[in-house]
Amino acid sequence: MYDLVLIGAGISSLMCAWKLRNSGLKMCIIESGRQITQRQCPRKTGVTQCHCSSCHIMQGAGGAGAFSDGKFIINTEPNNYGGRLFEHIGWDKGIAAIQEVEETLLHFGAPEDCWENDGVFEKKLFGTGLWMEKAKVRHLGTDHNLAVMNRLISEVEKFCSILYGKTCTSIWREDSCYHVAMECEVLLAKKVVVATGRSGSQFVKQLCYEFDVPITNNTIDIGVRVEVEGKIWDEVCQSLYEPKIYGRTKTYEDVFRTFCVNPYGEVVAENVEGCTSVNGHSYIEKRLPNTNFALLVTMKLTEPFHNIDNWGRSIAKNCNQLANNNVLVQRLGDLRRGKRSNADRIASGRVTPSLTTATPGDLGLGMPKRILDDIVEGLEMLDVVLPGTASDDTLLYGVEVKYYSVTPEFKDRWFEIAEDLWVIGDGSGVSRGLSQAGAMGIITGERIVI
Ligand SMILES: Cc1cc2nc3c(=O)[nH]c(=O)nc-3n(C[C@H](O)[C@H](O)[C@H](O)COP(=O)(O)OP(=O)(O)OC[C@H]3O[C@@H](n4cnc5c(N)ncnc54)[C@H](O)[C@@H]3O)c2cc1C
Repeated sequence: MYDLVLIGAGISSLMCAWKLRNSGLKMCIIESGRQITQRQCPRKTGVTQCHCSSCHIMQGAGGAGAFSDGKFIINTEPNNYGGRLFEHIGWDKGIAAIQEVEETLLHFGAPEDCWENDGVFEKKLFGTGLWMEKAKVRHLGTDHNLAVMNRLISEVEKFCSILYGKTCTSIWREDSCYHVAMECEVLLAKKVVVATGRSGSQFVKQLCYEFDVPITNNTIDIGVRVEVEGKIWDEVCQSLYEPKIYGRTKTYEDVFRTFCVNPYGEVVAENVEGCTSVNGHSYIEKRLPNTNFALLVTMKLTEPFHNIDNWGRSIAKNCNQLANNNVLVQRLGDLRRGKRSNADRIASGRVTPSLTTATPGDLGLGMPKRILDDIVEGLEMLDVVLPGTASDDTLLYGVEVKYYSVTPEFKDRWFEIAEDLWVIGDGSGVSRGLSQAGAMGIITGERIVI
């Protein structure tokens, strides 16, 4: 019998365990992926089709964040940058927990560098239809982020066992304790924290169904990864590192945003829920010629539509098909003129693709017109404040889809869905980044020992 079983070994779970390091509780983490040192995405060796039983990018010790660029967001006002934590827990509690995560990462060797909005760039946005959400950004870099996670996990393993390669299949309550089932065994626990991240969102959906907890989810972000010459975004990235710029298009009044800016970084392919998608990385020690960022359009679908994730996946699959299960890349100039890009047209441009394996093609054949119109209009709006962003040579990689996990109707503001059963991190639909996911772990750790 464990006092506490945590499901998933991402940052939310690790921070919860770390918070409880002196509690004397008998704890265990179940993780479906591998140990951090054994995570290696085969795409890095040129493989374009995914066959892994668990995705090395999304799953394993350290969670989805382990191979991330490690941009740690510290909100400076109660906005939704990095998730909706403050809507649930309030500003004071939320920011204190984020700061505790930050201190923990610093303790494990996170770099000190931090970017903060000084308001200078923000002034340029006045009257353009664009606006910003403010936060400080501590950039760990893909290289340092992995090392920090590795050290944190080694410490957690001293007081909490981690079972790797074990997937929790169901949880039920019987005889006043929880039964946590994996494929071939069942653990007993007094308390359970479900911290299964985005990759475990189906699991959370099923859990809520079994515990009769209502859920909501009707939003999705769809867009492309944009790659420009590094110098075009140089000034803004030097002062803000990751400008989070929002806008509303005039044509459809749709809201778009920039996301995950990687100054002088590279575009990477990854498997997201069975589709080949794109993402970006940048490194502390390595400076490449281009800057990339996602330009995402937020879509909310209403009755009678219920499965927004399937809709997003079908768009991703459409684009994959056109590129033979690969990422599509197109010059913005070609998209504007209704031409597919080919290797020659890409090579003639000023931006050399950092994702060399992407297939030149036509996003116009794979994505809904409305979203593509939003993207072109959004880039043109950004071009006003960051000239060159909407140049014909700008590269668009598609598609990038950000799914939102379902949000359970919590019993209270502490993320409990049933007695002694918590759902935290990105799998709860509340957080959408390392800092707020980690903060949910800290907050839940505090509640567990009360
Ligand atoms: C490529 C990439 C780059 C990113 N870059 C950034 C960034 O720069 N900054 C930022 O703030 N955020 C970034 N993010 C998001 C960030 O990684 C997540 O917000 C964060 O990892 C969420 O933490 P979590 O603990 O909620 O879940 P996760 O980190 O997803 O961890 C959940 C874990 O649970 C395990 N699991 C799932 N289901 C089960 C099950 N049934 N049984 C057992 N184990 C299970 C999974 O294998 C996984 O390891 C990035 C994400 C990705 C994919």
